[in-house]
Amino acid sequence: MKTEFSLAQLADPDIAEADKILRACVHCGFCTATCPTYVLLGDELDSPRGRIYLIKEMLEKDRPPTAEVVKHIDRCLSCLACMTTCPSGVHYMHLVDQARVRIERDYSRPLTERALRAVLALVLPRPELFRASMIMARLARPFAALLPAKAAAIPGLMRRVKAMLALAPKSLPPPGPSGGSVFPAQGEKRGRVALLQGCAQQVLAPRINQAAVNLLTRHGIEVVLVRDEQCCGALTHHLGQDGDALARARANIKVWKKEAEQGGLDAILITASGCGTVIKDYGFMLREDRDFAGPAAQISALAKDITEYLAGIALTPSSQKGDVTVAYHSACSLQHGQKITGLPKELLSKNGFVVKDVPESHLCCGSAGTYNILQPDIASRLRDRKVANIATVKPDMIAAGNIGCMVQIAGGTSVPVVHTIELLDWATGGPRPGLN
Ligand code: SF4
Ligand code: SF4
Repeated sequence: MKTEFSLAQLADPDIAEADKILRACVHCGFCTATCPTYVLLGDELDSPRGRIYLIKEMLEKDRPPTAEVVKHIDRCLSCLACMTTCPSGVHYMHLVDQARVRIERDYSRPLTERALRAVLALVLPRPELFRASMIMARLARPFAALLPAKAAAIPGLMRRVKAMLALAPKSLPPPGPSGGSVFPAQGEKRGRVALLQGCAQQVLAPRINQAAVNLLTRHGIEVVLVRDEQCCGALTHHLGQDGDALARARANIKVWKKEAEQGGLDAILITASGCGTVIKDYGFMLREDRDFAGPAAQISALAKDITEYLAGIALTPSSQKGDVTVAYHSACSLQHGQKITGLPKELLSKNGFVVKDVPESHLCCGSAGTYNILQPDIASRLRDRKVANIATVKPDMIAAGNIGCMVQIAGGTSVPVVHTIELLDWATGGPRPGLN
């Protein structure tokens, strides 16, 4: 794609990066076929190619985005299916990330929209606030039934509030172990890792990291929950609030680096793939920061999805589970963001599960961070489509590697939705998952 940035514009490293990405696009449109919003809405401006044009215009003309541009960028799930499909290697993620920052900086959203985004950015990265908000949401849940069932009959803000209430669980488990906890290896020590504590996950499903700790320590790996670790920054990063996201990235880099220097770390393991994609991108996000560029790249290199690390360990199956059919839901952040596709399925198969691929597995379930709150109509259509596809393989359980997808899918099915690591823990001596 031909671009027309001035030399002065190209002196800005972000614009230079955008120019490189835009020039790689050859307008072929292959990406449209796998873009969930184009598949649902059929509008070129809701396709990757259409959005790329909108972003090019906005950046080249260096003018505030219009409401029309914001509408179509907001509808993008950042699922990155377009990056998997694109034959020219267009790095759409770095382009849309930049567009979101621009929108946040230069566009004045309506007051209710700003308020909602501010609340999400405040609450979601802070487990204690998130826990309190979930308790309040539980109390408010009965009132959601008073709202009309038909989405079109509910005003925009209330529709989002209804979507938030629907995501709140009926009960909350007690909190898991806190930062600073160390779980020694059982038997001969073979390694030492940090385990990302996560934000929403540690409130909604501390059992996921508990399963990871059980499995790892059982196989000779010491696990540390690093003290003073924060939210990885993914939530605010996707809202275009880069000041907050980068501050969190820097804070994490500091504490992880200190832990690696003092105790040694083979890896920083992540059980929520949405977080993993962003931590693996810290090196890029902080590339212009003189003090943090090097450490950020080191931390990104240490970051691993838990399945990547487990691939290097000989797991010892122990329990008799019988034939359990598992529908594997491939989270977008794992399959498109980190290009981890076959590994979780191989681990599950090797450990005795009957693993089924889900039709249209490239399409997002609609979770996408805060998307299911901010764009509830598209998100629920995607969820219903995903759940219908899953039902065709008649699973006993559904496995995924990302808490956002798990909550989203669980909202549309009675089949237990569990994390891949819970199944692997079960297969190697842990409890049967899906009962709490
Ligand atoms: S990230 Fe997903 S929703 Fe956004 S343009 Fe690409 S394929 Fe479409
Ligand atoms: S597939 Fe790639 S090159 Fe083709 S239009 Fe989409 S982003 Fe551009």
